[in-house]
Amino acid sequence: MLSARQLFLQHQAQTTDFPLLLEVERAEGVFMYGPNGEKYLDLISGIGVSNVGHRHPKVIAAIQDQLDKYLHLMVYGEIVQAPPAQLAHALAQTLPAGLDNVYFVSSGSEAVEGAMKLAKRFTGRTEIIAFDKAYHGSTQGALSLNGAESFKRSFRPLLPDVNHLQHNHHADLERITRRTAAVIIETVQGEAGVRVPSQDYMQALRARCTEVGALLVLDEIQCGFGRTGTFWAFEQFGIVPDILTCAKGMGGGMPIGAFISRQEIMHSFKNDPMLGHITTFGGHPVSCAASLATLKIILEEGLLDQVNAKAERFKQRLAHPAIKGIRNLGLMMAAEMESFDVLKAVIDSAILKGVLTDWFLFCDNSMRLAPPLTITFEEIDLACDIILEAIEGHVR
Ligand code: PMP
Repeated sequence: MLSARQLFLQHQAQTTDFPLLLEVERAEGVFMYGPNGEKYLDLISGIGVSNVGHRHPKVIAAIQDQLDKYLHLMVYGEIVQAPPAQLAHALAQTLPAGLDNVYFVSSGSEAVEGAMKLAKRFTGRTEIIAFDKAYHGSTQGALSLNGAESFKRSFRPLLPDVNHLQHNHHADLERITRRTAAVIIETVQGEAGVRVPSQDYMQALRARCTEVGALLVLDEIQCGFGRTGTFWAFEQFGIVPDILTCAKGMGGGMPIGAFISRQEIMHSFKNDPMLGHITTFGGHPVSCAASLATLKIILEEGLLDQVNAKAERFKQRLAHPAIKGIRNLGLMMAAEMESFDVLKAVIDSAILKGVLTDWFLFCDNSMRLAPPLTITFEEIDLACDIILEAIEGHVR
């Protein structure tokens, strides 16, 4: 009998020459457990997914409750299902008035695809604008928005009429014009290595979009659902999007995504012709039940109140000459090191010592720190001690 690791290498598509190959049998809270007594403290959360920790009891209970009722029926009009309807209502309660129409999908990339289609349909325009070092997903449309040429080169031709602006540069905003259907930006750029734009810039971007009638799409797939200390990151920038995308942390570990807009915009999918966007699994009732539980946990268990204090604790405990600085908004953090080589040595050594961290797609000198929001101060101290030990072993 081949091990899961052997089967994985033989039969699952490989996308990197250096897969980590960590075997995990069970995960609970901030910990993952291997088959031979290994225990890893998870500082990645599946790239911003497990915001409420692994297998939160309330998420598991919500899933189990829905399992006893039905799995998949059929979505969008034919059959009314309580889980997506209740989740849409709960999401609307977290958002500014008017931003209350939800289209459920199954992943982040799909949410971005839907948002682009909606913007084109509503405005009748074609141009989409994105940013350098942006990451919005892997499907052809979302890939077109990617802000790193190396990722796109071998897949051209991609979507026409996509242009990129320099992130956080006021002068570039003039390139948003009456031809522009949508400008899409991660409220906090994730794969760029946690790039937080200035409030000034985001407000100028909002104003420019309004001025020329382009829709502003905020991608909160990685930074939403409490990650930055507010339920939505955009709350900290004094702006409101026309379309919001979310996924990842939204499902508490289950696959789900959404794009959310105002009714007048979303209704453009209804006519000419009808069925402007279709999905089979979007808004799966089990995922929606898990998502509703997740949303309630974040809002009702005081998780948001502690995000900044926890981020500060990381910063205090990781004060070391080998760490050049920590960029963050809440618990979306990037610890900058001297070089990729140092970073890789520290990440590898920390894993052997039982702490799981990671790197970013478009930033090769920073360590990704995105623990479950449920992490305790004691667990933060433990994680930081181990990271410092790993650093001491590799940096003179
Ligand atoms: N947008 C952002 C900001 C992301 O971080 C990601 C995933 N890393 C995506 C979109 C794509 O999401 P998915 O992998 O679920 O398609």
